[in-house]
Amino acid sequence: MNKIDTLLLARWVIPIEPLNKYYEHHAVAIDRGRIIEILPNNEAEIKYQAENKVVLADHVVLPGLINAHTHSAMTLFRGLADDLALMDWLNNHIWPAEGKWLSEAFVRDGTELALAEMIKSGTTCFNEHYFYPEQIAACTMAAKMRARIGVLLLESVTMGNSSLKDVLSHGVAFLQHYRGHPQIAVSLAPQGPYSVSDHALQKIKTLADEYQAPIHMHMHETTAEIQQEFVKYCNRPLRRLYGLGLLSPDFQAVHMTQVNDEDFALMQETGISVIHCPESNLKLASGFCPVQRLINANVVVALGTDGAASNNDLDMLGEMRSAALLAKVIAQDATALSAAMALRMATLDGARVLQLDHEIGSLEVNKAADIIAVNLNQCNTQPVYNPISQLVYAAHSEQISDVWVAGVPLLRNKQLTTLDEEAILLKAQDWRQRIANKSVIE
Ligand SMILES: [Zn+2]
Repeated sequence: MNKIDTLLLARWVIPIEPLNKYYEHHAVAIDRGRIIEILPNNEAEIKYQAENKVVLADHVVLPGLINAHTHSAMTLFRGLADDLALMDWLNNHIWPAEGKWLSEAFVRDGTELALAEMIKSGTTCFNEHYFYPEQIAACTMAAKMRARIGVLLLESVTMGNSSLKDVLSHGVAFLQHYRGHPQIAVSLAPQGPYSVSDHALQKIKTLADEYQAPIHMHMHETTAEIQQEFVKYCNRPLRRLYGLGLLSPDFQAVHMTQVNDEDFALMQETGISVIHCPESNLKLASGFCPVQRLINANVVVALGTDGAASNNDLDMLGEMRSAALLAKVIAQDATALSAAMALRMATLDGARVLQLDHEIGSLEVNKAADIIAVNLNQCNTQPVYNPISQLVYAAHSEQISDVWVAGVPLLRNKQLTTLDEEAILLKAQDWRQRIANKSVIE
């Protein structure tokens, strides 16, 4: 018998690669944080002697979900300003609230709340876009999760008291500190084309090239944004960024609800990827990303929740379902964005967009053991003809029982192991008290 750390004996295993494939009564063997074999349960029990044997008789096992766009600490603004248009929401509510409340403590407590919510809903890796990246990195490492964390650049806010030079040197220090880190990768994250100058974007591009860091940026979220930009620059934002040399396979365009034929040609020519946030787009009435058309054109599309202030949760199972349903009505084609494709968007395609697919996104030998288990023996997910379909169209995040990152359990029998849920909830209530009592939204 081969001695290993962990053996997961599952009812179903969805490897993601190949697409739309699942194995019945299979096991995942894990040693030193990596997947070493996927094999039938009966063979696994003979071949391996595991320190931790986990029997998942009613469960489907699959890679951890990847939330490809979020602003974690905005969990503390969840439900603070609902039912508003994007620019009204940002200019009159969110940015003033951030101006009033943003601090290291706010980001730490809000991020911990987000991490707890993400782990409990099966997310093992996220693409972060918010202030105080050092705090976010510290929380992520303490929770033993994985993330690509953006160095946010928003000229009107970030640079209130500091120059572009200061912000970029802070970015350089952050990039250098986390170079080669096993859990934390870094990107450069200009907020959006309407809040960053050409000069700043060129500097960011130089830095991104030097450190081989992706650029993670909101793009073409609404028609109003494009009209305003057109008046200022006589170009659509994507064309403006193309002119500045920013577009490449390292560029992650979040939203892209407004895509004309010229945009489409630019995306194909440059190989940028898209991060689709369907529930945020629906809630802010931003528009519809033409997901199936992008996939048909070989644009890699990942899936994100956006922040909890515009979603209002960080639940990737719900996001997958929304993405699959919305894609069908947009394409006016019920075969658009199948369950298997929606699941790949939330796993392997997310890993591709984050440039972490050598490590995560699918259950393959030598990849990191970032894995979740979902109990399908519940009324809403029985009977099971196809576990992929049940996951995307019927499962709730409460059915997620176990989560591992690099073989380390972060959730065991629905209990968080690296975070103190009770303390996190008390802190959230404390922030609610302070923010509600002195709200800028009165
Ligand atoms: Zn966003």
